[in-house]
Amino acid sequence: MIQSAASLSVALRANALTKIYPRGREQVRALDGVSFEIHQGQFVAIVGPSGAGKSTLLNLVGCMDAPTSGTLELMGNVVHNLGERERTRLRRDQIGFVFQHFGLLPTLTVAENVALPAFFAGRRGGTRVDELLARVGLEHRRDHRPNELSGGEMQRAAIARALINSPSLLLADEPTGNLDSTSGRAVIDLFQELHADGLTIVAVTHNPLLAAAAGRQIRLADGRLHPNTDTVRAEPDLVENPLSVP
Ligand code: ADP
Repeated sequence: MIQSAASLSVALRANALTKIYPRGREQVRALDGVSFEIHQGQFVAIVGPSGAGKSTLLNLVGCMDAPTSGTLELMGNVVHNLGERERTRLRRDQIGFVFQHFGLLPTLTVAENVALPAFFAGRRGGTRVDELLARVGLEHRRDHRPNELSGGEMQRAAIARALINSPSLLLADEPTGNLDSTSGRAVIDLFQELHADGLTIVAVTHNPLLAAAAGRQIRLADGRLHPNTDTVRAEPDLVENPLSVP
């Protein structure tokens, strides 16, 4: 259904999000009062130079860490003040992660790697493992071990694994950073397909092709939003009123 920008449901809302790390006697403001919204179904790239705070932001959004101050809502849940146990549950149930270095367990087969998060959630992967392997084009690799796969295949297996628990949000940290351009393109295409199916995707990247494919960039510099970042922008294809399309 086509929705107006105002009625789009919010997947993520950050308000004055701040993260301060101690470093010796000093304090590093890795994030300094960052506010933005991401709507459900958006595909967003977090970009900016090294040290800008991108990984820190992804860690907070992924409930790996708690902010020093500020508020964060994820799929309607207030998450900034959750304890470790609740954060772990939310991570497991709502978020899929894709990393630069894939993070597959070398002793497990591809199918077993994909099923692992379901196992930790107290379920079996079942037929969904094979559905997802077909989705990422790896049916023929299901019983292989990661060291028998190319980098691109490993990342596609990692994406299948990230989707096994049907997350509301897919987070990716430099997902093409370890891939040649052809394999990187395949990952970008896969993200675009998942986005077209309605998945909310947030990816930290230095890859301009991935940033362009995302359609919206959250730009960080020195822990703050770059002034050009549009903090609440809905994607034009989701906006009903043509006058509101840029
Ligand atoms: P980016 O991902 O954009 O390269 P980061 O979020 O990794 O940036 O880092 C932002 C700033 O916070 C940097 O100055 C970095 O050195 C600092 N930082 C990140 N993690 C820690 C940590 N665990 N302890 C101390 N300083 C940190």
